[in-house]
Amino acid sequence: MTAYRNAKNVGHVMIGAGAVRELGSLLAPLRTSGSKCVWFFDHFFKDGALAARLPVQDGDVVVYVDTDNEPTTDGTDAYASYVRQHLCGVLPCAMLAFGGGSTMDTCKCVANLLTNKGLAEDYQGWELVQHPAPYKIGCPTLSGTGSESSRTGVLCNEKKNLKLGMNSDYTMFDQLVLDPDLLATVPREQYFFTGIDTYMHCFESLTGSMRNVIVDALSEKAIALCREVFASEDMMAPHCREKLMIASYIGGMAAGFTGAVHPLSAGLSMVLHLRHGLANCLALSVLDDIYPEQCAEVAGMMKKQGVALPKGVCASLDEDGLRQVYEGTIVHEKPLSNALGPDFHSILTYENVRERLVRL
Ligand code: NAD
Ligand code: ZN
Repeated sequence: MTAYRNAKNVGHVMIGAGAVRELGSLLAPLRTSGSKCVWFFDHFFKDGALAARLPVQDGDVVVYVDTDNEPTTDGTDAYASYVRQHLCGVLPCAMLAFGGGSTMDTCKCVANLLTNKGLAEDYQGWELVQHPAPYKIGCPTLSGTGSESSRTGVLCNEKKNLKLGMNSDYTMFDQLVLDPDLLATVPREQYFFTGIDTYMHCFESLTGSMRNVIVDALSEKAIALCREVFASEDMMAPHCREKLMIASYIGGMAAGFTGAVHPLSAGLSMVLHLRHGLANCLALSVLDDIYPEQCAEVAGMMKKQGVALPKGVCASLDEDGLRQVYEGTIVHEKPLSNALGPDFHSILTYENVRERLVRL
């Protein structure tokens, strides 16, 4: 273990409306006789119209990822076994992902499982992946998580009540194609909730105690771009879609430590199966004493863009359910101590978190 951070970035990034048209030329040098690509599409694209515009060839493996729920370790194992079966023992020349964080993370984690034995849960944690994955190309169709440029693929492990990523340099994409036209069909609320994830990651990192100058610089820029997008008249105008795509990419590169929002969000997602972006906004709304400025700023952006939070989300939870959310939160020691110091347990007691949850 060295004291110096040896940071890796995505090798190549292509940005611009219509950029997916370049995929044929990007894949050409990778394709050899008989080689196969594996294409992961969010199930929104199941009608095949997007695939028909892309250089998918006979024999390639095409997977439509069910994103009604966020990726799980069991689901990832199932996709990995499906892909393995169709590859007949040969590694693919490239793996591509078209979707939001769920589809990109599925592609990243399945790729790791093609070159590393065992199950997805064996690699939840830091630096557990032993062997490089096949070449991967990320094409976000929903921006905000930063999965396109981060070194993790986040999975929910339902048996362990644990949401945790495969954090490894091998998890990263090798090439990105950032085509803002792919965002045009995203429903407004989803666009907001996922987009604001960039703002959350970056402010949590900037308000934490574990800082670094590069992460700070990237986070500040990503937040500034989010402000431009969400304070504009139409957050989904073409120039805003491009800005949000770039904010998400920069935010993923920053990928510092999160703070108190993401742990509470993870607890809510595990128990209530809420989507990540929405769960973050709900979590921030009841962390108003810890993050008063950010809570007010996000509320203002939501108002401006005509987006609202659902009410009564924890109403169905009994005491056991509330405790499960608490346990799914408090397990995230690194981000919580980044935000609240090593004594975070004495601040976020069960009673304290419970009082927040019943306000939701
Ligand atoms: P998502 O990928 O779960 O997709 C949300 C919804 O948007 C789905 O219904 C999907 O069908 C739809 N959608 C996606 N693209 C669309 C398009 N172009 N048009 C219409 N609909 C579209 O959402 P997300 O917020 O991007 O990802 C959430 C996941 O990302 C969570 O599992 C979260 O934990 C993870 N995450 C990962 C990282 C990372 O660094 N790897 C960081 C933060 C969050
Ligand atoms: Zn996030």
